[in-house]
Amino acid sequence: MDTLYDLTVHAALSRLNAGEISSLDLTQALLARIQAVENNVCAYLRVLEEDALKQARYADQRRAEGDLSPLLGIPIALKDTFSTKGVETTCGSQILRGYIPPFDATVVRRLKDAGAVILGKTNQDEFAMGSSTENSGFFPTHNPWDLTRVPGGSSGGSAAAVAAGEALAALGTDTGGSVRQPASLCGLVGVRPTYGRCSRYGLIAFASSLDQPGPLARTVADAALLLQVIAGHDPRDGTSWPDAVPDYLAALRADVRGLRIGVPKEYFVTGVQPDVEKAVRDALNVLQNMGAELVEVTLPHSEYALPVYYLIAPAEASANLARFDGMRYGLRKEGATIEEMYARTRGAGFGPEVIRRIMLGTYALSAGYYDAYYLKAQQVRTLIKSDFDRAFEQVDVIIGPTSPVTAFRLGERTANPLEMYLADIFTLSQALAGIPALSLPCGCDAQGLPIGLQIAAPALHEVRMFQVAYAYEQATTWHTRRPPL
Ligand code: GLN
Repeated sequence: MDTLYDLTVHAALSRLNAGEISSLDLTQALLARIQAVENNVCAYLRVLEEDALKQARYADQRRAEGDLSPLLGIPIALKDTFSTKGVETTCGSQILRGYIPPFDATVVRRLKDAGAVILGKTNQDEFAMGSSTENSGFFPTHNPWDLTRVPGGSSGGSAAAVAAGEALAALGTDTGGSVRQPASLCGLVGVRPTYGRCSRYGLIAFASSLDQPGPLARTVADAALLLQVIAGHDPRDGTSWPDAVPDYLAALRADVRGLRIGVPKEYFVTGVQPDVEKAVRDALNVLQNMGAELVEVTLPHSEYALPVYYLIAPAEASANLARFDGMRYGLRKEGATIEEMYARTRGAGFGPEVIRRIMLGTYALSAGYYDAYYLKAQQVRTLIKSDFDRAFEQVDVIIGPTSPVTAFRLGERTANPLEMYLADIFTLSQALAGIPALSLPCGCDAQGLPIGLQIAAPALHEVRMFQVAYAYEQATTWHTRRPPL
């Protein structure tokens, strides 16, 4: 008998619609799987067992009444960055312990309206700062492909949950790679949409000019369906695009003939694990054999993406995180004066990486340094964006590796923050440029660990990115591999 927890969202929907299974069966199968493997994987901060069963029964009732909502009865996990009405939301931080939002993030509301069953809130790096989920204020998450390794981050709990069969799909957030990099390390499809394609309302903010929610799923079609549901204008987010959302699923044709694929020479450099480079080159050959044309392009300012990101993101974070002071949300450590209360609360509630970023950001914004650091970083950000604009005059999409390495060992990079920052070397520049990018499985290394292929497209051209990804997926079997858990 096949296992319900391993189904794609599309397979589950067709079995639900055919009446072969109920959402209650499906949700129970997922909860049983969580029972069986969660002790080893540690993907969830909170499993909403009773609530999920209630939603599943309700979904079954709606289906019986003829409701055809696109995710009706599908169990989905949410990163703890998303505000969820009535459910503790910590963003992976001790400082938000006990905080229960009185509202849903817009994308959460849209998932619920589409009929999704929310299984729980997943672990993450504190305030989404990290690449391994080891910066969680609670516990690290383990990679289902090898429990001694990291799942990536910061949406590592969401990625591990889907890879381990503890959810059919999940939402994460991507500020500089936090959906794509864990998708790559866990063998999933992960999408960072165009900045503004999805509402940020109700996301606990890290860096507001970069944050975007995005889906993690087992196939391109599943990811496209999830994005379809969550994307679109929201009057509550002034940076969300007013443009209509195209039909992503209708665009999934396995045809890349005549498409021009940009291959940036800056993405094939020393430091890339040899089997990652080989898998990406093999994937490019597959696409070429299907009729796409490979064109070498150059993104000359790529080398500045890391320093630019680590000025802009911490600067914005230092402002965003000022609201956590012990007065309004979560933790409070009393003190003799209000300043002492702030200091004790923040000192106790924030972990070391968050404190490091607040200090870096505050410094970069301070009088006398603003022009030298923050302003300069903004100028170089514009150059990084112009690199992409120029490249997209010649090509339709840009392809390279998502991560320079496969899943590294727990503890391997925690001692050196710079080494951890390098995990996102290939995912930062698309975020800085505001363009969409997706990661999908394209191979495995000698240990059997997944390798991810990154496909980027011009702003608002997610359709193109999905089309190429879908064509590649149909021609290969990497997406059918499951971890030996
Ligand atoms: N790893 C990067 C960071 O630590 C990106 C994180 C993210 O996208 N949220 O900031």
